[in-house]
Amino acid sequence: MRRNSRLPSRTASAPRSLAGLVVCSECRSHMNVTRVTLHRQKKEYLYLRPINCSQNPKCRAISYQEVLKNTIETVCRDLPQAVEKINFPYFEQVKNNLTEAIIHQQKILAEIPALVETGILDEETCKLRTYKLRIEISTLQAQLAILPPVNLRSVAQAVSIPQFWLDLSETERRFYFREFISQIEIIRQDKDWNLQIIFIF
Ligand SMILES: [Zn+2]
Repeated sequence: MRRNSRLPSRTASAPRSLAGLVVCSECRSHMNVTRVTLHRQKKEYLYLRPINCSQNPKCRAISYQEVLKNTIETVCRDLPQAVEKINFPYFEQVKNNLTEAIIHQQKILAEIPALVETGILDEETCKLRTYKLRIEISTLQAQLAILPPVNLRSVAQAVSIPQFWLDLSETERRFYFREFISQIEIIRQDKDWNLQIIFIF
């Protein structure tokens, strides 16, 4: 907090951590961050407001700080459970299969020069085969790269503590929220509201 308070005022216009993540479940509109400065006061208030609200009367704006506080509480409560539901043995199996396939293709690739030397393959066939094998290998490597990390469980535990989120700057929070959250839905009940977090996994 001390570090944040020393930042120059122009950083107030830096992207907020919740920008682009919040949707109003009533009108299905994304909500953007709006800034309100009261007359002759230096203090500014941040609100989240639906961009394209189709309701009549329109869905009202909600305090940004309230949503942020609630988001941190909900992440800390729901993230460990969401991670528990991930089928790690399944991903482990997929990972092993992909790794084996990559090793297999690399072995074939290594055998090609010998086949050219013995005259079994001509130069042209060799080039085409090498090219195709390299594409197959990089496709498999790309599939391997998008699997969830094995240490996700311990990461989830570490970030499920409110203080972790409170100690971050808005810019840092913006980055970390996007590592876990796909969308935050505001569910309205009369004048009250609560939120539901949709994680990326
Ligand atoms: Zn709405």
